[in-house]
Amino acid sequence: KKIRYCVVGLGRISLQHFMPGTKMGSLGEITAIVSGHRDKALKVAAEYGVPESSIYSYEDYDKIRDNPNIDAVYIALPNSMHAEYSIRAANAGKHVLCEKPMANTVKESEDMIAACKVAGKKLMIAYRCQLVPTFLHARDLVQKGSLGTIQAVESANGFNIAKGEWRCNRKLAGGGPLMDVGIYSLNACRFFLGEEPVGINAYTSVIDHDGRFDEVEENVVWTMKFPSGVLASCSSTYGASMEGIIRVHGSKGTLTLTQFGYQGIHLQARINGVNRGDPPQMIDDLEEEKDPAQFARESDYFSKCILDGLPVGPSGEEGLKDMKAMMRIYESAAKNA
Ligand code: NAD
Repeated sequence: KKIRYCVVGLGRISLQHFMPGTKMGSLGEITAIVSGHRDKALKVAAEYGVPESSIYSYEDYDKIRDNPNIDAVYIALPNSMHAEYSIRAANAGKHVLCEKPMANTVKESEDMIAACKVAGKKLMIAYRCQLVPTFLHARDLVQKGSLGTIQAVESANGFNIAKGEWRCNRKLAGGGPLMDVGIYSLNACRFFLGEEPVGINAYTSVIDHDGRFDEVEENVVWTMKFPSGVLASCSSTYGASMEGIIRVHGSKGTLTLTQFGYQGIHLQARINGVNRGDPPQMIDDLEEEKDPAQFARESDYFSKCILDGLPVGPSGEEGLKDMKAMMRIYESAAKNA
């Protein structure tokens, strides 16, 4: 049996990644579409064998309730719409796979979790990196002590944004690069360390006054202190093409994961020699497979959780922890302004 997905929003992540990924996978299929553009929806529906009767607009979205050929929805809309469309899906009796960040606010995130709980439906936030073997291997190296005692983490992730993106509209995006791509650094720090930050300090800035950053930050940096004493420093931007990276420093060695992209996540881990000056010993040098394999894995993972009644790793509660931390980052930045 396959899980039948209704894709909500036919933007870049849906069309170029999630839908081809689901097709590539083995446990899911696309059986319905929600779009504001009828022509586009008809074209995509034909490509995926979706019947015309299973194409919905945002207005008649609640009718998915009456469609027995939908088990789950995939929400790939601007961030401000995640909560509403997730809650409406849960109320219609469907499981929810929602893109990151899970919402614009903590309250919306809590409402999403509550709605799915009341409906008895699963909620997953699309943290695809948490399912990538290379990423999981890196976390294992950290958690099983291969790097010794972890002392510090550094991470960065950003890009140079085009004019006119909804991502620069505060109402639609909830914030700037932090909510969109900085979240990868934040989530990776929490995921690798397995603990929640107790102290957070942050700065934001705008350098390019060219109309892109009238409503959201251009740059954000933040530091975090974890209960173990591990310190993390992270940065994100919409003003430069900042390669995604996370580097974990332990008493015995360092690992570096380059980029949080759709393919080619590369892990290098090295253990330093016992004596200072010894050449480092490479313990791993791995690279991830080609797009859309990550999305095939993500789609199959959620399908399997539904089919086998398993708990979801990147759950709503996991998304909520990032939301709470991001709000603290913004609060700190506002104080430091
Ligand atoms: P996009 O702009 O390409 O697509 C957004 C879709 O929402 C479009 O189909 C658009 O028509 C629709 N839409 C409906 N109402 C809209 C409105 N008022 N304004 C603008 N668009 C509206 O965006 P995207 O890059 O596909 O991002 C969608 C979501 O997916 C975001 O939440 C983003 O953070 C997330 N995302 C996740 C990843 C990942 O790797 N997990 C990557 C990219 C984007």
